[in-house]
Amino acid sequence: MRRTELDRFRKRLEAKRHQVQELVQAARTTESQHGDTETPDLGDRATDAFNREVSYSVRITERDLVRRIDRALGQIENGTYGKCVSCKKTIHKARLTAVPWARYCIECQELLDRGEL
Ligand SMILES: [Zn+2]
Repeated sequence: MRRTELDRFRKRLEAKRHQVQELVQAARTTESQHGDTETPDLGDRATDAFNREVSYSVRITERDLVRRIDRALGQIENGTYGKCVSCKKTIHKARLTAVPWARYCIECQELLDRGEL
């Protein structure tokens, strides 16, 4: 992949990373606000617990995404970016444009999703 293209993906990844971290931050803020208020009603408490659960799972997903983004950024640095970690083939540009942190080519990803890899 050309340097200019790599730079473009790096910028996309960095922008996404920033965006995700703001989401994580927002979820954390919501969580602490919930923790501060004592809700006497049981119904409210259930909703509260549910909301906490949701923001918690958001943070897990987003954290995982940050890890993937960091890994992709590392691959850009060491020159392995855009290669499938399984079959070593070049991942299609359209796929990288849609999912810049993709580690598998579409064929391997499909096998993985079916549990065959
Ligand atoms: Zn592959």
